[in-house]
Amino acid sequence: MVEMPLREPELTTNVLRFPPTLPLQLRSDMEESNTVTSILKALRFAAIKHRDQRRKDAEVSPYINHPIEVAELLARVGGATDLVILQGAILHDTIEDTQTTPEELEAEFGPEVRRVVEEVTDDKRLPKAVRKRLQIEHAPHLSERAKQIKIADMISNVQSVTETPPTDWPLERRRDYLDWTEQVVAGLRGCNQSLENYYDQILEGGRSVLDDGRA
Ligand code: ZN
Repeated sequence: MVEMPLREPELTTNVLRFPPTLPLQLRSDMEESNTVTSILKALRFAAIKHRDQRRKDAEVSPYINHPIEVAELLARVGGATDLVILQGAILHDTIEDTQTTPEELEAEFGPEVRRVVEEVTDDKRLPKAVRKRLQIEHAPHLSERAKQIKIADMISNVQSVTETPPTDWPLERRRDYLDWTEQVVAGLRGCNQSLENYYDQILEGGRSVLDDGRA
């Protein structure tokens, strides 16, 4: 019988963050509290950045409801527990819609969060129609994290356009918007089955509301 040499446990950065004698349970409690703190930090940051923005629905609802909904969908429907995805979801519109810079995100949340937010950020210098076409074209090339954020974003937007649409959007524009999300999501598939199934349900429900004239 060949005896395997006893190896020292690998000193990963994850282990080094905690005193080596800490019991396992306590260690995971600390990790959990780090996660909660990081998510709350992102929520606070996004809430401050979006504080003056409202959606264009009848209730003129606070914009921050949208990124919160996207992150909640990822966790509840998509089963996401990855901190970069959840923080990225909360922050996903900060560069595009507020004065936030990529450098600021990196300083506060690290390079991975910066990268994923940049991936889902449109170039606002381009005309709207071009940006919408580019979203369809770019979708298949996004990272797995960015794809999931984008699907949750589309779910949230389809729900809004169905239930609480901008007051100046005629029915046709709402239908066209739903069709456009379907083209974007086509390029995002294969990253999270639960989210994809949920998107399909929400899209179907949305279309039947708009077609029934219940909207
Ligand atoms: Zn969004």
